Amino acid sequence: MTSIGVISDVHANITALEAVLADLHAEGVECIVCCGDVVGYGPWPREVIARLRDVDALCVQGNHDAASIGAFPSDHFNADARAAIDWTRAALDQEDLQFLADLEQMYIGDDFVLVHGSLRGPLWEYMRDAFVARESFPLLARSIGLFGHSHIQGGFVRFGEHVDAITPGRPIAIVPGRQYLINPGSVGQPRDGDPRAAYAIVDLDCDSVLFKRVAYDIKPVMQRIEHVGLPRRFGERLEAGR
Ligand code: ZN
Repeated sequence: MTSIGVISDVHANITALEAVLADLHAEGVECIVCCGDVVGYGPWPREVIARLRDVDALCVQGNHDAASIGAFPSDHFNADARAAIDWTRAALDQEDLQFLADLEQMYIGDDFVLVHGSLRGPLWEYMRDAFVARESFPLLARSIGLFGHSHIQGGFVRFGEHVDAITPGRPIAIVPGRQYLINPGSVGQPRDGDPRAAYAIVDLDCDSVLFKRVAYDIKPVMQRIEHVGLPRRFGERLEAGR
């Protein structure tokens, strides 16, 4: 495992996922890990679960995944998100529900840790700034932690007592002695103003992180969201990347 495709927050958007998988294939990346929120918001939860199984993605559980199986209280969500969780639960079959139930909240591998929110709060905590990320670094058992939840591509680096934000404009070099928390951004519902699907490639041979964006056709996704009766707002925010 030398080059890892890191995806997160697919949110039942099969069109965006297929675009990212094609790009990963073109990049020659075969090993895929997913930081959770496979389902929720989007209209294709079954298709996304099937595709992630198909590519043998190593996946952890997100808050939407947990809520969809009734393992996370849905009163933490706004009314629209709650409606999507109810819709998702009804759309999934027993095998899909079991797939989501079997996901761990944290995976600790030889080279990296995989989690949805943060090391301190795997399902619920957002790491949106260095102040919050600082609390997770002492809990990070490897030099690299991969996370999602905020739908914001980028991350944080710790060297000594300093924690700095990482912005995704250019490749990041992994420097020995430092720790990194990397967010690949969201495949299925980006919130950083760029509507293109987001992901990252962590190259363990070259000690580098590459942040990537892939354009896909958003209109059919918006139409499908309306067609299945999910809140129209979920389609509109895809177009805005917010
Ligand atoms: Zn999410």
